[in-house]
Amino acid sequence: AHLARIEATEPAVHAYLAVDADGALATAAEVDAARAAGETLPPLAGVPVAVKDVACTKGLVTTAGSTILDGWVPPYDADVVERLRAARMPILGKTNMDEFAMGSSTEHSAYGDTHNPWALDRVPGGSGGGSAASLAAFSAPLAVGSDTGGSIRQPAAFTGTVGCKPTYGAVSRYGVIALASSLDQIGPCGRTVLDTALLHEVLAGHDPRDSTSIDAPVPPVVEAARRGDVAGMRIGVVRDLLGEGLAEGVRARFDESLQHLREAGAEIVEIDCPNFAHAVAAYYLILPAEASSNLARYDAMRYGVRVDAGGAERTMAASRAAGFGPEVKRRIILGTYALSSGYYDAWYGQAQKVRTLIARDFEAAFERVDVLVSPTAPTTAFPLGTEQGDPLAMYLSDITTIPANLAGLPGLSLPNGLAEDGLPSGFQVYAPAMADDRLYAVGAALE
Ligand code: GLN
Repeated sequence: AHLARIEATEPAVHAYLAVDADGALATAAEVDAARAAGETLPPLAGVPVAVKDVACTKGLVTTAGSTILDGWVPPYDADVVERLRAARMPILGKTNMDEFAMGSSTEHSAYGDTHNPWALDRVPGGSGGGSAASLAAFSAPLAVGSDTGGSIRQPAAFTGTVGCKPTYGAVSRYGVIALASSLDQIGPCGRTVLDTALLHEVLAGHDPRDSTSIDAPVPPVVEAARRGDVAGMRIGVVRDLLGEGLAEGVRARFDESLQHLREAGAEIVEIDCPNFAHAVAAYYLILPAEASSNLARYDAMRYGVRVDAGGAERTMAASRAAGFGPEVKRRIILGTYALSSGYYDAWYGQAQKVRTLIARDFEAAFERVDVLVSPTAPTTAFPLGTEQGDPLAMYLSDITTIPANLAGLPGLSLPNGLAEDGLPSGFQVYAPAMADDRLYAVGAALE
């Protein structure tokens, strides 16, 4: 049924970069056979899933939305893909994304735009617009995303779906194409809070192949999503994320949800996080710095696009010129500048200090409240083509989601009704590290 739905919706939506019908059907047949033989199967066995093209899939082309990896077929699976296979979930295919996950609209993909199923002239958000659009188009029931600065949560908000960025280190990054390693986090996307929690349990868990992987039990996210209990919970509204640029319709829906939480027995208080004002500036130094270092591996020598130009250095330069898109080049230049000798302390070092201050804002807040909430994004989905040469405006709209990545904390976005323009808006919940279950409790209470 999902393969038929993909065929029907893809011409208009373009959520997928690759569809693996044969592989998905083979897994489904194996599950059917196992079920017929009376085998005990994992909870999501036979439920199909789409995977953002940032995670390596053995034998299935993986590009991270970039020309430089055009046609590249990984020889191994990412840890999360191994887990999907162990859970016996058929993998439908790979979803579209901004090149190397840099962007907020999926328009930086080298393989064409993804359209928002709610309004085809609108973006689905980014960088994981393909995963979110596949859910909104019902061409996948579950999807895997990655979130370095909001790429799971903002697309969820723009498409009326659910997305969770788990605690940093809760899901392995092994086999995931790196953007900024200290911020990158893989996470689950679904259409309901409970669906998302079920996928969360599949993806999370310790992996010795990722040195930042946390060796601790997965928080009880499914149980929390089933109960949806917020009675007695203290919920902090981040005043600093309700400022300039917040659309009236998004604000109105957000206030209604706060009222709903109050009625469900939660106490709502206002919280100040003064250092969030510097989050975008710090993020757009740390991310490009780490990305410039991570992307140095695309040297045309080992894999990926290669443009022979005579001599190693010239071949490297020609290959990178041809293989990387404009946003990637912009960030490599920013990053190498921020890391260069003489500027390192002034830019990268300073940004790291701001990062600590933001983590302290969270720590202080979580002494007073159990979770923090805000709108996921200041606006609803904007029309395709809005960015048009003004990358800074796009960067600024990341303010609501970036603090979680800088502090390594979990965050979840869930649908929050339609704004006055008829498009979905998102409600975001933040929790302390390894308290991901609280996100699902609040999410389920609002659903
Ligand atoms: N919009 C952010 C950026 O462009 C988000 C990236 C992400 O989470 N992968 O960096």
